[in-house]
Amino acid sequence: MVSTYQPQGPYCQSCSMPMQKPEDFGTNSNGNQNQEYCRYCYQNGNFTDPDITVEQMIEKCVDIMKKMNLPDMQIEQVKKYIPMLKRWSTKSV
Ligand SMILES: [Zn+2]
Repeated sequence: MVSTYQPQGPYCQSCSMPMQKPEDFGTNSNGNQNQEYCRYCYQNGNFTDPDITVEQMIEKCVDIMKKMNLPDMQIEQVKKYIPMLKRWSTKSV
């Protein structure tokens, strides 16, 4: 068995990207670091892509992961994982 997917926290509550370096974090409108979202998703207090749906976010991430040659197993787990993140789970569907 392959070990389960356990990203090293903290990780982005929008795209599940692990945020390890200070520059990986998004920024609030006051310029402070945002602890919940990465810089690709959140900048200056706003989502960089406010209208994206969870399906589109999954597609985008799967695309990136395929380019990174990550194993299918891991990609499948991320697909299930993204809808549970804070950005998507609090939204009424
Ligand atoms: Zn993100």
